[in-house]
Amino acid sequence: MKRILVTGGAGFLGSHLCDRLIEQGHRVMCLDSLFTGNRKNVESLSKNPNFTFIKHDVVDPINVQQVDEIYNLACPASPVHYQFNPIHTMKTSVIGALNVLELAKKTGAKIFQASTSEVYGDPSVHPQPEDYWGNVNTIGIRSCYDEGKRAAETLFFDYQRTYKLKIKIVRIFNTYGPRMAADDGRVVSNFIVQALKGQDLTVYGDGSQTRSFCYADDLVEGFLRLMSSGDDVVGPINMGNPGEFTMIELAEKVLRLTGSKSKLINMPLPQDDPKQRRPDITKAKQLLGWEPTIALEQGLQRTIDYFKGVVA
Ligand code: NAD
Ligand code: UDP
Repeated sequence: MKRILVTGGAGFLGSHLCDRLIEQGHRVMCLDSLFTGNRKNVESLSKNPNFTFIKHDVVDPINVQQVDEIYNLACPASPVHYQFNPIHTMKTSVIGALNVLELAKKTGAKIFQASTSEVYGDPSVHPQPEDYWGNVNTIGIRSCYDEGKRAAETLFFDYQRTYKLKIKIVRIFNTYGPRMAADDGRVVSNFIVQALKGQDLTVYGDGSQTRSFCYADDLVEGFLRLMSSGDDVVGPINMGNPGEFTMIELAEKVLRLTGSKSKLINMPLPQDDPKQRRPDITKAKQLLGWEPTIALEQGLQRTIDYFKGVVA
């Protein structure tokens, strides 16, 4: 049994990770400011004696005495939420990384960073391998997130080089599933909630931009494999589903699977919105034997079933 800290543990991905770690018999400390997360996501775990919830902002130093592994997921992931207070988003990524790294240094814990495909910005190399350095606007409205996550990767590597910490970095590509907040603002939850409510589906721009969507369970399996891999496997490692779809294709799938009569409406394309994104997951396959197993339609169906219980 390990003592494991999950920052951002009450969020969408964090709560699925906490579920798996508790199932495996570990002691889990779920630390979260509840900015975008919700206690409801971990409600079923709260009676388990191995589970503790700590309401805390990672921008403030973290005082945990004993910990074997740290998963650092704390950070709003939806553009709407990370742009709400961009300065705090940057602090969350950068000062938050410093605080978890200091904790790892003090305790000797192995430490995992949830990085992002956004480190590639609006990529000119397609699909994106890990050795592509990216195309990020340093001063745009997405930069608080993109540059914050890039700086966090730098800090992880500098702590590894300076203090010999055991680090693991995953670059997550768009992931969806049950427990995304209904008001999350990301495309999959927006389209599903809109379709179930009979509202127009809001397609930003002409909808020809692409994304590759991974189902949450697949991703969490990848997290666990990376954390338990040999110390020489530090990453960064891309994780995502290489199936690539336009936003129009996604909207049409959601309409078909929900049986909704909603229409598509075009809304302005947000500034710096990446035109295309697809992970090259060769490294994850080779080093971890990991690849997604849940196709988009299957994952969408499960997510739709979840949202039917949320959107009354
Ligand atoms: P989410 O918004 O549901 O979860 C983020 C969690 O972090 C929430 O519970 C939130 O309350 C918490 N949080 C935010 N700021 C905090 C702070 N300062 N201190 C403590 N807690 C804080 O998003 P998610 O999709 O579950 O994302 C989890 C992690 O994975 C994030 O780090 C995100 O950047 C990364 N990621 C996710 C995706 C994806 O597609 N889901 C893609 C790339 C990267
Ligand atoms: N998008 C959309 N309608 C929405 C929300 C998002 O068309 O209601 C588009 C958005 O412009 C982007 C893509 O969907 O091109 C994915 O957006 P999301 O916010 O989910 O993730 P990210 O842009 O961070 O990849």
